[in-house]
Amino acid sequence: MRKADPAPMRLRATLAIVLASFGFSTAVRADPVDTAFSDAIALFERAAPALGTMPFGVDLVAFRDALSLGRFHSTHWGGTMLLDLRVETKVEGGCRDYAAFVRLPPRQGRVTLVICPEFSTAGTPELRRLTIIHEMVHVVAGADECRAMAFAAAVETAALGRFTPVDRYWQTKGCAGSGFGLPQSNSRSD
Ligand SMILES: [Zn+2]
Repeated sequence: MRKADPAPMRLRATLAIVLASFGFSTAVRADPVDTAFSDAIALFERAAPALGTMPFGVDLVAFRDALSLGRFHSTHWGGTMLLDLRVETKVEGGCRDYAAFVRLPPRQGRVTLVICPEFSTAGTPELRRLTIIHEMVHVVAGADECRAMAFAAAVETAALGRFTPVDRYWQTKGCAGSGFGLPQSNSRSD
């Protein structure tokens, strides 16, 4: 999975093209992005009753609000936070390496999720949905890749009975010793 959280200094914010401010202005979103958010919301809501309140240290209320409303109260960052959704049209800056990424730490109460061209041109709707879930973990709970993967796999498993294999990425990030874990079983079909 080509997604992560490069340091803010790597990115040239001035080159970012803001196509959509997250919130209620969904009509201006690019289609695959809009669909990915809708799919992610549906998947999350299907999974939520089975997830508890704080799975993998992710505040579920904050996660839902961030995903659905673009605004959330964060015990992790402190205070009310806004999500800035930026859909880039050029493969430059962080978009050379990632399909999507979150700029951390937040600045002035805002967390920026950058969606790169590759997000919409490569992969499948399922992968895009997974990517949104994964990135939103970074939005509400910070940069830990193992947490984001574990949470996303738990959401998929709770909703679908299976999760997208992430073995290689899990190993690359050294998640075996992270204290987070992937679901035990990946055999049941949807
Ligand atoms: Zn990540």
